[in-house]
Amino acid sequence: MIALGLDIGSVAAKGVLLDGERLFTCLLPTGWDPRGAGEALVAALLAEAGKCREEARVIVTGYGRVSFQGADRVVTEISCHAKGVAKLLPGTDTIVDIGGQDSKVIRISQSGKVIDFAMNDKCAAGTGRFLQVTAAALGLAVDELDNAEDRALEVEISSMCAVFAESEIIGLLASGVSKGGIIAGLHRSIGKRVATMARSLGVGGQIAFTGGVALNRGIQRALSEELGQPVQITEYCQFVGALGAAMLARTC
Ligand code: ADP
Repeated sequence: MIALGLDIGSVAAKGVLLDGERLFTCLLPTGWDPRGAGEALVAALLAEAGKCREEARVIVTGYGRVSFQGADRVVTEISCHAKGVAKLLPGTDTIVDIGGQDSKVIRISQSGKVIDFAMNDKCAAGTGRFLQVTAAALGLAVDELDNAEDRALEVEISSMCAVFAESEIIGLLASGVSKGGIIAGLHRSIGKRVATMARSLGVGGQIAFTGGVALNRGIQRALSEELGQPVQITEYCQFVGALGAAMLARTC
């Protein structure tokens, strides 16, 4: 059997296919159709691996997991992240995950079992949504932010709310503040917000940073400064949940 893990997120649908030692990944925008995005992931991964659906065991996670039909099991993102991180970054005891519409902190055991977690899914502060709204106000794409930051000119962004932060940015730009300094302030704001949540849970020895927002090196740096210790990342940071789901599919 081959193992397929799907993480159908609010912004991006991620898939991992494990076939022995072979690993395939695929990422598609979730758009308005989480079920369709999940099906497109399955088709793309099976085609790439040269396998058919009957050979695959499928576990699905993420906010769109309930809409996907035909999974062998549905598992929470928290459990899948714990499993994926234990594999990719062994020794981790705290995961900070920042996705499109929520941020979470998860304490795990060495075998990848969840010990405790905290989550912000009530407002956009400290999430990828905050980054998307504020990047748009600066006329940039989210993946352009980290190269454009200027830490020497960092300004404080006082609004935690994405809507107010957007207005604050427009005001700062109008008064001549540099884009680079504003971006450094945005990275700091997300780092501070999530570090506060992490500290409320008690930060452990080795911290892993996952989710799409972990691709931004400015936020990695701000988060590690706010926590007072390094945060580990992996090239698969956005695929951690899907990998964890695929690993669970191997054993179910
Ligand atoms: P979800 O599972 O909710 O879809 P992801 O973990 O896939 O979330 O992360 C999506 C978020 O990642 C988006 O909100 C986007 O802002 C952010 N993102 C994606 N690529 C980058 C990048 N290169 N730099 C910074 N942020 C990114």
